[in-house]
Amino acid sequence: MGRVLCLLYHRVNPVQDDIYHLTVSPDHFEEQIQYVKSHFPVLRFEEDWTRSNRDGVVITFDDGYRDNYEHALPILEKYHVPATIFVSTGYVDSSQEYWWDEIARVLTRDVDYPEQFELRDSLYHYIWDTHSLEARKEMVRSLHWILKMDPDVERANLWLAQIRTWAGIGNEGREENLPVSLRQLQELGHSEYITIGAHTVNHRSLGAQTKEGQQYEIGASVNFLERVLGRKINTFSYPFGSSVHFNQDTFGVCSQKGIIKAATTAKGLWKESANPYVIPRVEVKDKGGKEFEEFMEECWRLG
Ligand SMILES: [Zn+2]
Repeated sequence: MGRVLCLLYHRVNPVQDDIYHLTVSPDHFEEQIQYVKSHFPVLRFEEDWTRSNRDGVVITFDDGYRDNYEHALPILEKYHVPATIFVSTGYVDSSQEYWWDEIARVLTRDVDYPEQFELRDSLYHYIWDTHSLEARKEMVRSLHWILKMDPDVERANLWLAQIRTWAGIGNEGREENLPVSLRQLQELGHSEYITIGAHTVNHRSLGAQTKEGQQYEIGASVNFLERVLGRKINTFSYPFGSSVHFNQDTFGVCSQKGIIKAATTAKGLWKESANPYVIPRVEVKDKGGKEFEEFMEECWRLG
């Protein structure tokens, strides 16, 4: 019985400023796909892996960035390589960036900022020093953690609006960081190489939410995709993906919605005994040539 190595990508893009290190350059992505294609069978995430007796590789993307359509799709088509894209549906067709990119955008620009930012509402009170870029990056990290664990999207939107006003910055996202448009999502969905899976609506930790909250996040993202793509959605990936970000309720809700397999960010290889709701993946960094080959060899040593 073969093992399966699921690779995790987020972005394929020539952008330079990527404070989250989520981006692989198009040149490196092409080298990586060529290498994978010439060394391993490339399987689809949703297919039954127990039928394969060789080690295989699966390509996955999280979030649904527009660059998956612009830069990754042409390369996947050129090499006839299938991939699954897990989309956070609340961002489809938005002119605003994903919340983590939005906090980075408003706080790391090369302009003068006030000396500090005070956030106060009925639950939270923080004061952040904002005089230097380093200090503001610290604020980005701190806000990232709060937003990821707090599912109250309205509260977060109020904060973001407050921070934009404070910084004197509008809400239009940077073109290169935007999520897919509806038309791009539909084109991706119609490509014979792409499977679309769900990745919640708002991209918050599911592990921090009530069962009802999870039912909304999982259910509404699956329903939206089924409606706009006109087909059944049966795969899912958990935002942030480590074991604190999902729980037994998550498995129950996924199963009720007809999800057959769900991807985590637990580093490892899939083996036949694995729980289908805890599929391990390994995140790919911006590497080419020898460095990528070494990375792949290390992946197979994970067991
Ligand atoms: Zn994600």
